[in-house]
Amino acid sequence: MRGRATERETLALLLGRVDYGESDVIVTFLTEELGKVGALVRGGRKSRRRAGGALEPMQTARVTLEDRGGELSTLREARVERPRVALLGNLTALETAGTALRWARHACPPRMPEPEVFAELSLLLDDLDAGAAAGREDALLARFGVRLLEHVGWGLELGQCIVCGKPRPPARAAIVSAARGGVLCVGCAGHAIGAPKGAAEGAVRGALVDAIASHAIESPAEVALALTWVRTALAAHAGYEE
Ligand SMILES: [Zn+2]
Repeated sequence: MRGRATERETLALLLGRVDYGESDVIVTFLTEELGKVGALVRGGRKSRRRAGGALEPMQTARVTLEDRGGELSTLREARVERPRVALLGNLTALETAGTALRWARHACPPRMPEPEVFAELSLLLDDLDAGAAAGREDALLARFGVRLLEHVGWGLELGQCIVCGKPRPPARAAIVSAARGGVLCVGCAGHAIGAPKGAAEGAVRGALVDAIASHAIESPAEVALALTWVRTALAAHAGYEE
């Protein structure tokens, strides 16, 4: 039995696409209003025009989705709202954007509106497109990743021990387990601060923890650590490994 069709118009970013059958395409969008949505694009393999550019990566499209209550929506209309042509021609920017889109795809639950993630991802793509990010791609990616985790409920607890709740003394070294979700006090970690177990779980300088906790991720050490934590958290929560 088919439910009654409803149509919704929303802005969308393309997170992924696979060919389906002889002529169709199934796309995954992150939409502004509906969250992550899978949609069937009839004829999408044969005519790109028909999809109004919504099948092209990196740009923002305004899409009309028809929903009949099933798992997949159907793309009815699409037009390009914001092309990002410069981004498509810049390899470093493209790789950075591709990573951010894959993270969003694995972190965002289906059909759960995540307007902040949509806004942050759009801003990151804008910065990469404008060239404003040149040389700072990893820093912007790390900031996006840390905020992404927070928006989907996987943010690292860096203010207090995740087991006993004891506050972390600011500016002092701390033991952090990105896989377990944040800071561990010495007692709960079961090992001394002088015995780190590697970047994903181990002793971290207080200044680094403070920087990442406040999203002021700038230095190479802060960027590298934040990226490691984001990847570790995505692996722990979503089973996603790059
Ligand atoms: Zn503790």
